[in-house]
Amino acid sequence: MEGYIMTKRLTVIPEQCSGCRICELVCAIKHFRVNNPKKAAIRVMITYPHPVMRMPIVCSQCRSPLCARVCPADALRLVNGVVQLIEENCVSCYKCLEACPFGAIYAHQDCDLPIKCDMCGGDPECVKACPKAALRLIPEAVLGESKRLNNVLSYAQMKEIEFYEKGEKKIIRYAEIGEES
Ligand code: SF4
Ligand code: SF4
Repeated sequence: MEGYIMTKRLTVIPEQCSGCRICELVCAIKHFRVNNPKKAAIRVMITYPHPVMRMPIVCSQCRSPLCARVCPADALRLVNGVVQLIEENCVSCYKCLEACPFGAIYAHQDCDLPIKCDMCGGDPECVKACPKAALRLIPEAVLGESKRLNNVLSYAQMKEIEFYEKGEKKIIRYAEIGEES
């Protein structure tokens, strides 16, 4: 995908994630040709015992990347919508790893360079492999759509009425739009 401009965001839907870690495997295989999730640029954080949360952590390709701002070697640059690691510039100081507010840069003892999502050239393997569609490429123009919809739905309060028809109990549920304040 040469010359592409990434106008979509790799978006995580944690409620959908089953914690199978297939995303980690396909990432490590794609970039290092090894079946070793510790070399992946996406990691699934799972908390136990309660509440159980499964949260894949991956780079957000920030438009104002803190990792690039702290890099003393100009080794991280926002190019065509993706924050790219310029390998020949990197001095392996790992200041980027400390600076990322999401913990989305990783290190491995076998690797000299930080491990960071490069969006697989615009067609991320993890998105294609996730069996639960917990990882999606979403156009930037519609980011926030689900949040907006959820706000509207929470505004509609569900009501329920019971009644009897020919001796049989029936229930009707309907949404009642709340009063504007
Ligand atoms: S592949 Fe999908 S479901 Fe499996 S751990 Fe990764 S994000 Fe979760
Ligand atoms: S590594 Fe972190 S700070 Fe850098 S672009 Fe990705 S999410 Fe943003």
